[in-house]
Amino acid sequence: MKDDIVSYREMCDRERIQTLQRGMNWRLGGSYSVILMSQRSNAPYKDAILEDGVTIIYEGHDVPRTAEIVDPKRVDQPLTTKTGRPTQNGLFVRAVEAKRDGAPAETVRIYEKLFSGIWSYKGEFSLENYTQVNDGSRNVFRFELRLVESTSMSHSTTLRQRSRIIPAEVKQEVWIRDGGKCAICGATDELHFDHDIPYSKGGSSITADNVRILCARHNLAKSDKIE
Ligand SMILES: [Zn+2]
Repeated sequence: MKDDIVSYREMCDRERIQTLQRGMNWRLGGSYSVILMSQRSNAPYKDAILEDGVTIIYEGHDVPRTAEIVDPKRVDQPLTTKTGRPTQNGLFVRAVEAKRDGAPAETVRIYEKLFSGIWSYKGEFSLENYTQVNDGSRNVFRFELRLVESTSMSHSTTLRQRSRIIPAEVKQEVWIRDGGKCAICGATDELHFDHDIPYSKGGSSITADNVRILCARHNLAKSDKIE
């Protein structure tokens, strides 16, 4: 996984769009979709990374707030709009149903908000499944997405072990500790999170102690050594 650190502007530029406002963006990239997630304490939805380190549970989205709907959090998340068109939930649900009928899984790029204006690109995921569950007051969708390991990764055990999702709270801690700079040279552009301990040795708990920020140059230097 890349785990690039990008500004809001860089994220929009990568997706060739002026602004990214919505969390769910069906087929934004033409052949793939884009979702924005947040595990921050003030996040509007309950997004989570599972223990396996490669699966994300992404909550569907609410009806828009209107004069009649004062509190969208008390209304079932909708499959269709008032005019009967599919919502973003509906489009993602449809893709899962198509997959159950044998279609390939939808590819979804995931960006995660770390701080205001600071995002991390979590890589490409496949949309595997969804469930509709009652969260206590209404029905919500939970989409299951799994990290797609690139073919260049799958041939190398070391790289595959590095392709685990780093939890958001660890990233936030590391970002503050490293001052938003490469831990080796202090560069402030083309940064990403790097974790050092192979999954097999470090277990499922990735902590700030084995994660650091590296620039593209120092990441390349590191990959050369591994190869
Ligand atoms: Zn550097």
